[in-house]
Amino acid sequence: MLDWLIVGGGLHGTHLALTLLARGGANPARLRILDPHAALLAHWERCTTRTGMAFLRSTVVHHLAPDPHDLWIFARRRGSLTGQFRGPYRRPALALFQAHCAELIATYGLDQLHLRGRATGLRRARHGWCVETSQGAIATRRVLLALSAGEQPRWPAWATALRAAGGPIAHLYGDEASNEQPAPGGPTVVIGGGISAAQLAMALARRVPGGVTLLLRHDLRVEPFDSGPCWLGPKCLSGFHAEPRPERRRAMIRAARNPGSVPEDVARSLRRAERWGLLRTQRGEVLATTRRADGAVSLQLDEGNLTAAHIVLATGFDPARPGGTWLDDAIAAEGLALAPCGYPLIDRRLCWAPGLYVTGGLAELELGPPARNIAGARHAGERLAALALAL
Ligand SMILES: Cc1cc2nc3c(=O)[nH]c(=O)nc-3n(C[C@H](O)[C@H](O)[C@H](O)COP(=O)(O)OP(=O)(O)OC[C@H]3O[C@@H](n4cnc5c(N)ncnc54)[C@H](O)[C@@H]3O)c2cc1C
Repeated sequence: MLDWLIVGGGLHGTHLALTLLARGGANPARLRILDPHAALLAHWERCTTRTGMAFLRSTVVHHLAPDPHDLWIFARRRGSLTGQFRGPYRRPALALFQAHCAELIATYGLDQLHLRGRATGLRRARHGWCVETSQGAIATRRVLLALSAGEQPRWPAWATALRAAGGPIAHLYGDEASNEQPAPGGPTVVIGGGISAAQLAMALARRVPGGVTLLLRHDLRVEPFDSGPCWLGPKCLSGFHAEPRPERRRAMIRAARNPGSVPEDVARSLRRAERWGLLRTQRGEVLATTRRADGAVSLQLDEGNLTAAHIVLATGFDPARPGGTWLDDAIAAEGLALAPCGYPLIDRRLCWAPGLYVTGGLAELELGPPARNIAGARHAGERLAALALAL
């Protein structure tokens, strides 16, 4: 029997495996990470490669190692720091961050703890939990759900209809089989107002100068992070934790988020690319689409029209609770408590029921607005390391 089964091998699952081993005294022989991909972090790698991003949005202290200074030390050890960090928050280069992840996975032998498979069911058992998986049932004392919305790309209704009719439309995060960016074939419209849309539009414009339009529903919103910097520490989080009502916590999360925003340097690069004629930006919301005889699509907007040979959605992920039907079934069968917003009601140790823990989006009502980010994984790590040591 395992002591810990971590379901999900993304940034959260990997950081928490490492934290439980390095700081929580977990026995590697009795800890496993269940994830359907060929390697840990495969989903993160696919998403970041497809956007064409060069730097993370988060800061130098947000990475997978337990010591917050580890990424800086790693960068210095590798040689020159030039070009490795950007801006006042020292946002790391993606290549540096990935190399650091790879080193940590090798150092802690996490690849050997990876079970390739997918959870399909969850139920209480005599000494803990039984997780049904695509590879058979696994008995474990504790389960940590490290799921995300990453398998739920958001498709607006008009786009779903266009796809069903065989239209030339793809979602940036839709193709699970490939790390390749969608190939621009003729005039391409990228839809979305956030950092991924901006980065993708610029990357495609480098391949097809002048052939890309970025369609935004609103003017470019410039913010350093996707929630204010005060949410990274006690300044804002202490007020959040002092609030006992989950409805109020949900309202605070909504108010704190900056969806569809970009950091200053990305906004600057986008404006420069537009000045140089590499791409166009246009404000508007798609109301309907029509296929033309030549296969292109005419987009009817709230203000004017636009024609596209190819459309790429960079509309992020569906905000529904991560997990899907197998988790819905477990919630119903095991009587797991939910807040009115449909998210887990958990305690300060991120515990949903004895032996069942959550992180990421599922732990939002405890970790607050940064729950889904690397900062949220690190906050979860603090709580779970303390818990594991006390076991
Ligand atoms: C392009 C992009 C850039 C981002 N940049 C930043 C950034 O700079 N800084 C920051 O803090 N955040 C960033 N984020 C946000 C966030 O940190 C990432 O989305 C991150 O990948 C979240 O990690 P995760 O482990 O929660 O999810 P994921 O990386 O999505 O991992 C979840 C894993 O669980 C697996 N899984 C799902 N269901 C099951 C199941 N039933 N059984 C087993 N496994 C399952 C999935 O296949 C997946 O591998 C970014 C997000 C994107 C998309």
